[in-house]
Amino acid sequence: MEQFKNYINGEWVPAISGKTFLNYNPANLEDVIGEFALSDKEDVEKAVEVAKAAFEKWRLVPAPRRGEIMRKVGDIFTRRKKELARIMTREMGKPTFETEGDVQEAIDTAYYAASETRRLFGATVPSEMENKVNLAFRVPVGVVGVITAWNFPIAVPSWKILPAVAAGNTVIFKPSKDAPHSGVIFAEIMEEAGIPKGVFNVLLGKGSMGDHIVSHPDVRVIGFTGSTEVGRHIAEVCGKNNKKVSLEMGGKNGQIVMDDANLDLAVDGALWGAFGTTGQRCTATSRIIAHKDIYDKFIEMLKVRTEKLKIGSGLEAGIDMGPVIHRASQENCERIVKIALEEGGRLITGGHKMTQGDYAKGCFFEPTIIADVKVNDTLFNEEVFGPVLSITKAESFEHALELLNHSEYGLSGAIYTKDVNRAWTAAREIQTGLCYINAPTIGAEANMPFGGVKGTGNGQREGGWTAFDIFTEWKTVYFDYSDKLQRAQIDNH
Ligand code: NAD
Repeated sequence: MEQFKNYINGEWVPAISGKTFLNYNPANLEDVIGEFALSDKEDVEKAVEVAKAAFEKWRLVPAPRRGEIMRKVGDIFTRRKKELARIMTREMGKPTFETEGDVQEAIDTAYYAASETRRLFGATVPSEMENKVNLAFRVPVGVVGVITAWNFPIAVPSWKILPAVAAGNTVIFKPSKDAPHSGVIFAEIMEEAGIPKGVFNVLLGKGSMGDHIVSHPDVRVIGFTGSTEVGRHIAEVCGKNNKKVSLEMGGKNGQIVMDDANLDLAVDGALWGAFGTTGQRCTATSRIIAHKDIYDKFIEMLKVRTEKLKIGSGLEAGIDMGPVIHRASQENCERIVKIALEEGGRLITGGHKMTQGDYAKGCFFEPTIIADVKVNDTLFNEEVFGPVLSITKAESFEHALELLNHSEYGLSGAIYTKDVNRAWTAAREIQTGLCYINAPTIGAEANMPFGGVKGTGNGQREGGWTAFDIFTEWKTVYFDYSDKLQRAQIDNH
């Protein structure tokens, strides 16, 4: 069986304890992907020690030279795109056309980070006093801990790792235990691009190991993507230890379909938003809010298209939707469907685990639509992270907005309408970090801020220029060339 190790200080090393864990293909649990290092506290301590030492040199490398490595990272991801997509699909299930998109997002992020190293603009500001210059610079923070979910195993880590490293920090990356091979790939690519020893390190393992990264006093920033439950815990630990933290957490994203919408387009959006990545995206469309005048028609149109989706291993050509990540997720989908029907939901299609033939070997769940879901129902409020879509009737535009905003989360929201006034009003009123007009709730671009409000985030934004706010701090420099004591707020008042 293939063995996968940690990457620390430019070396491939087993966990200090020698322990390992196995990972499986969710489309076929008989397919064991490999044996992975099971890291613990000692491995974290070793990695932090080398990352801390490497920071002292890396922070002094001119930013555009750091950017050259980022550009090479983009080139290598481009060269390996198709090969990597198959590796990623094998470990997390989504079809290869989606994993290729996942890699493309890392490519875009790498080139963006490379170009940003020639900007990283500071500021010069007039001084209150004569013969004095005031400047502010962005400076790197130190060792960054990156902890991520498995559903975008290359793209999401790239959003954190590449800006952090480009800005002069060093990184310890803990990929999800469900996508560890992608973490290994990241290290291979950084190594080939020429990243100096200790600047980028990968520790494979489980959540408990992540806890040691978060609580280590020499890790100064945490970039986290995962569930709200774990994110809240991380925020508490970071708060106590006075460290920066960026949290990208759960979602319960809604798509409004108004009476004047292009219904074919709205169906395309709902289908891709709800069942792309098997509904396992933080931005997945999990609630359709349809205007009463098109409610029945929209449900019928969506049902017909959903029932045509081809389900299977994402490694096979022509598959629209792969498995969910593991058996527990399959059970969770079954549980939530049962509750939704008990609470008065109407099953339109799907609703079951797929257990016939080859499907039995994997973790497949039918693409599921449940209509007549009400605002206080469990399915309307709980993140499923699977292919289960609710549909709720809205009496009016205002009612649709009210329903959409009824959520503890606030990642993404969408509206389909041809009325420009309603579109702009919705863009203003929808309480999410991302808002789409006539497009599904998914589809982030690498050069734009990404993140959510309410229970989804803590005010930080990944992506684009805003990612650099997470991984830098401002240093203010007062440069006085007057040759005399000038007292701010005193001498010139
Ligand atoms: P998860 O919270 O279980 O795990 C995320 C990561 O945190 C994993 O690497 C895990 O090992 C680690 N972890 C677990 N416990 C930890 C602890 N105590 N200390 C430190 N690290 C710990 O989430 P998941 O099941 O992998 O992913 C699904 C969730 O991620 C969903 O809620 C989804 O909405 C969310 N997600 C959010 C975004 C976003 O950008 N907002 C993107 C993708 C996924």
